[in-house]
Amino acid sequence: MYVLPDLRNLKLMTNHFIEIEHLSGARNYEPLPVVLTRGEGVYVWDDAGNRYIDMMSAYSAVSHGHCHPRLVKVLQEQAAKLTIVSRAFYTDKLGIFLNQVCKLTGFDKALPMNTGAEAVETALKAARKWAYTVKKVANDKAEIIACEGNFHGRTIAIVGMSTIPQYREGFGPFPPGLKIIPYGNADELEKAITPNTAAFLVEPIKGEGGIIIPPAGYLKACAEICKKHNVLMICDEIQTGLGRTGKLLACQHDNIHPDAIVLGKALGGGLLPVSLFLAREEVMAVFTPGDHGSTFGGNPLAAAVGKAALDVLIEENLIERAASIGNYFQEQLRSIDSPLIKDVRGKGLLIGLEIDPDYPARDICIRLLKHGVLTKETHKTVIRFAPPLIITKEQIDVAITALRACA
Ligand code: PLP
Repeated sequence: MYVLPDLRNLKLMTNHFIEIEHLSGARNYEPLPVVLTRGEGVYVWDDAGNRYIDMMSAYSAVSHGHCHPRLVKVLQEQAAKLTIVSRAFYTDKLGIFLNQVCKLTGFDKALPMNTGAEAVETALKAARKWAYTVKKVANDKAEIIACEGNFHGRTIAIVGMSTIPQYREGFGPFPPGLKIIPYGNADELEKAITPNTAAFLVEPIKGEGGIIIPPAGYLKACAEICKKHNVLMICDEIQTGLGRTGKLLACQHDNIHPDAIVLGKALGGGLLPVSLFLAREEVMAVFTPGDHGSTFGGNPLAAAVGKAALDVLIEENLIERAASIGNYFQEQLRSIDSPLIKDVRGKGLLIGLEIDPDYPARDICIRLLKHGVLTKETHKTVIRFAPPLIITKEQIDVAITALRACA
């Protein structure tokens, strides 16, 4: 077997910023040994002035590129005018943002939060209350179905749905009423549904789970099953939505319009946390004043940036770019002849490279770092390539040359 040098014992450069972060910060992440100080477009720079192509885009939150000038301008102007007022008052920004995102996605109503996990929690609460008030499920009996290997965030309820031992262990007990089925098989969904089922929560492509694409037609079959049994279908588009996979929403590859979706990450234009739960009227109507909320959710700064992020997405044709450049990127990745690469899979600019399990994917990421390309492994054997959607073919060619040298 072809063996690359083992980099696991590589001595990391001593760096003041890394040391002070280790000294005072919780160790819930294991970052690559690079200290970033600046970003522009697809590039970031480290504290020694070295430039890198960002193939991570902050887990797809920086789809517009780092510090997009138009978004920064909107942020600065709004920051100097009005930033946070809470939802105790109306603002001149929130309604316009929500109206635009509803029109764009075809949902009736939107509820603003900040992080992805908060939007998922909102979806879970909406589904349960809908089950009790509309579907007439008996009190405290509502069930939510999610998929094996999912990633929907890190709150207690959400990790209660996780099948990754590390995400759960030490954090129980978890709320009841959460059921897990295998991903990619619609028959399993139908088998799991009971009269108490409120919703099926699913990622159109499993992102953190290793860029896993379900069989074509899976979501469509699930949508039909949900409709037949009066179960809400909720797509988690936090990572896959807003153009990342070459469509506005990844569920559109299967031509479906679910009952509800959650959006986050790129909605903040790479500048702020902005998330939304979007649903049809009947579902959103379960929320009455005081049921749910967030001090920061829907603040005018976030709403102004969120609206501009959607404008840029459309006006700069980022969705179409993700589709065409993504195809080019995947072709180039498939042309690399390396015994370490076992599979290339993806849609648009959400791409995973499956690495020989005998060789730690993290080592390849460290080698890529030294060749000016930043990315990170997910689930130990998959390297993620999810650059900003503004990336050019020339920049992809540079990354491919680096990868040829590293894999
Ligand atoms: N849902 C999906 C599909 C995600 O990929 C993520 C984050 O990676 C989340 C939810 C959680 O988002 P956040 O980290 O903003 O809470």
